[in-house]
Amino acid sequence: MSSDTAALEVLVFGSAIIDFICYTPRLPAAGETLHGHKFQRGFGGKGANQCVAAARLGSKTALVAKLGDDSFGADYLQQLRLEQVNVQHVERVPGESTGIAQIAVADDGENNIIIVVGANNLLSTDDVGNAKQLFEQAKVLVCQLETPVPATLEALRQFKGVSIVNAAPALAQTPAELLKLASILCVNETEAALMTGVANISSISEATSATERLIDLGANTVIITLGKLGAVCAHKEADRLHSQYVAAPQVPPELVVDTTGAGDAFIGALAHHLARYPERKLVEHIAAACAVASKSVQLPGTQASFPRA
Ligand code: ATP
Repeated sequence: MSSDTAALEVLVFGSAIIDFICYTPRLPAAGETLHGHKFQRGFGGKGANQCVAAARLGSKTALVAKLGDDSFGADYLQQLRLEQVNVQHVERVPGESTGIAQIAVADDGENNIIIVVGANNLLSTDDVGNAKQLFEQAKVLVCQLETPVPATLEALRQFKGVSIVNAAPALAQTPAELLKLASILCVNETEAALMTGVANISSISEATSATERLIDLGANTVIITLGKLGAVCAHKEADRLHSQYVAAPQVPPELVVDTTGAGDAFIGALAHHLARYPERKLVEHIAAACAVASKSVQLPGTQASFPRA
């Protein structure tokens, strides 16, 4: 056992994507060239975001992910190192491009996004075996659905600790095995609606009903985040549904600057607290995650907005 993995708390198996954001007066029509007024680059991808969120809170983290051998991949690797993430298994794939999201944001808030996942698509079952030592040492594993599902399933099969699956972006048909393997399924209300086939989830009671449907589909413990309302969680014991609502700290509307990445801040913080305080109850972990996520909405950017311990 290397000393680097001995105290590993949070292992994230997933995506890393660089965001290129153009702020523009309006969205261009087909074939039109427009002058925007600001450009920003951001480090993103749900996997890397959640890993950085946990690392900033003090967790010893590692990421298993794929980047391209372009300059974006080199920059991302350096950024992850700055965030103290173990990048031993973040591979730069020769000849591949790093995953990118090209985002246009108009003055009225409308946006359009093109994602080219590039190297993320090459995360495979082999990468689980190659990172065996990390899988053996980590206390909590976090996965999402921005990378190929077969590899995610293999990661979950091999991991023996507490696993969180953030089923995002949601699939219309979620593999039953994914739900069964995850200790905790965590989704937002839109993803929960798609997975359960209901038109809309906007209240605590609708979210609670959705948790029950997700448990009936095979999930063990379910958390549905509800934006400023907080989150609901549920599990079944002796055929009885135990559900609870956890309120998020109230943030006055004028202090809500940018909610992008709030869900990733929540999951990273949840993983950190589960790994660090295993004796505590799930609702305590959720309350802690809500507190972290509610701080992130008060700063611009995604990873840039995640609070430090
Ligand atoms: P995103 O896709 O923007 O990353 P999400 O849709 O996955 O976010 P949300 O349910 O919107 O996730 O938010 C996650 C958590 O962030 C919530 O459970 C809550 O704790 C916190 N949060 C989000 N918006 C607010 C807000 N306006 N005020 C306080 N807390 C918030």
